[in-house]
Amino acid sequence: MSRSLAVTVAEREIDQTTSSSEVISADEAVAFAALDAGIAYSSAYPGTPTTDIQETILKHADLNQVKALWSINEKVAYESALAVAIGGQRALVSMKQVGLNVAADAFMNSCPAGVNGGLVLVVGDEPACHSSQNKQDTRHYRNLSGAVLLEPSDSQEAYDMTREAFAVSERFSLPVIIRLTTRTAYGCTPVLRRKARNSRPAFSWPKQPERFFIVPQVSRRLFKRLLERQVELGDWLVKSSYTVRRLDGLQARYRRGVLCTGIGYPLAKENVPHNWSLLKVAGEPFPDDLLSEFVRQHDEVLVLEEGDPLLEARVRHVSKGTKVRGRLSDDLTQFGELQVREICAAIEGTPRPLPPPNTDLPTRLPEICKPCGYHKVFAALKEIPDIATPSDIGCNSLGGMPPYSVMDGVWAMGSSIGVACGLAAMGHSRVLAIIGDSTFYHAGLPPLIEAVQEGYRLTVLLLDNGTAAMTGGQPVPHHFDSAPAPLARKIDLALLIKAIGVRSCTTFDPHVLGVMGIRELVSSSFEVPGVKVLLYRSQCGLFTPGYHTSEPFSLKQKGG
Ligand code: SF4
Repeated sequence: MSRSLAVTVAEREIDQTTSSSEVISADEAVAFAALDAGIAYSSAYPGTPTTDIQETILKHADLNQVKALWSINEKVAYESALAVAIGGQRALVSMKQVGLNVAADAFMNSCPAGVNGGLVLVVGDEPACHSSQNKQDTRHYRNLSGAVLLEPSDSQEAYDMTREAFAVSERFSLPVIIRLTTRTAYGCTPVLRRKARNSRPAFSWPKQPERFFIVPQVSRRLFKRLLERQVELGDWLVKSSYTVRRLDGLQARYRRGVLCTGIGYPLAKENVPHNWSLLKVAGEPFPDDLLSEFVRQHDEVLVLEEGDPLLEARVRHVSKGTKVRGRLSDDLTQFGELQVREICAAIEGTPRPLPPPNTDLPTRLPEICKPCGYHKVFAALKEIPDIATPSDIGCNSLGGMPPYSVMDGVWAMGSSIGVACGLAAMGHSRVLAIIGDSTFYHAGLPPLIEAVQEGYRLTVLLLDNGTAAMTGGQPVPHHFDSAPAPLARKIDLALLIKAIGVRSCTTFDPHVLGVMGIRELVSSSFEVPGVKVLLYRSQCGLFTPGYHTSEPFSLKQKGG
């Protein structure tokens, strides 16, 4: 028996349906689908290739009475959306693939008990690491969690799948993952929107500890249910309009087919001959027996999937003499995005072509904006000998590249301080953790607490530019005083740091202190035991009036 606290939410009347299609990216299509599906809530953490989803929703949130925000990190983004969906309303949460590592604890533990309203988690994978530390494939998380995963092949499918994903989530009481990859996320194709849902159920927070209080005896029961549900989910996927099966290849003497998913589908449609069969896998859990049947009906099957060779590995197990070609057979490159020239060679049965010849174009590394205060900081660090400099994700990591190259390594969000803790524990006495403000809020606070608790001797250089600059300037909790009212300072960063109990927190403006002053400040911090925070405060130039016309910094003017 469940008890509930009902909160009534006014029904909306919206109809944004366009009578003709618009050419938009899959990111935008996901955002419009979520709005048209009647979401009440949308949370996200920025990162390539999914940032545009939330940017689009934020532009339309007020009109649609949607609470939309950039969360402090992906775990909080997921948890808050989860609460909305448990309460019976629809919620969208989006992040990049490494963001799901941060949200994984909440995500994995939420799947057995599931949701009541629709919960859609959009994850953007980066198979070629265009802007990511790794190429991880979110389908692995689907297999770990038992959730549903849908993989759009273009923007229209991103719209249709996302729209339907809310209903699927409600029908199966499970979160649904929409897996985008870089090319589907950014590729623009025509999208026809459908009539928006014009009503929203009341929010009702259930009191069901027998379902949501996941102690072991509850979990064991819920996992049984989750396992049983996999067959139903597979049936739904196969019957959905997103699964495409063509058996033209069976007419030939040597029967050939292509097995594809996501961006592999348009690549197959464009390049694979019409006398080949085709099976498009719409997502997971796709039934093994259908894959086996398709593979065994053919003499040769080419697998086109973006990311890891998961489908290919599965069908190899059941191929029974069918020649399976793909990344594992080395017909397609093991790393990076699917390449048309490799697909064409695999179709023709010729060896995988070598990468294109070097065109002698100069390598273009990302650069720090010309008048940014980071120049003075990194020029100063270049002159300080014998320091260990673990650093972090964001604009500040540009100091690891020429002309400065003053960083020893970048691992994950917040890792600079965690790695610094290990260095200090091993007795390194000149440790400088370098981290930006957005990353500090995201995952830098826990290791700073550990450093203080353990009494480590280390310095944290906290580069506060008042925004998540590298992903386009999303807000952080303490935006500079000059920011517009909705973004004005809410958290006092220096006070927060001091409350943790660091030995000292010294605030400085790089343009006032200059290179020599910064060098002196950092160097002298190593002489003092305990945890010291050097708090750089200089608003990101992108949000500073006159920035674009100001003088660029030159290494020759180091004293400045
Ligand atoms: S985006 Fe902002 S913080 Fe990043 S390098 Fe440019 S001015 Fe500096």
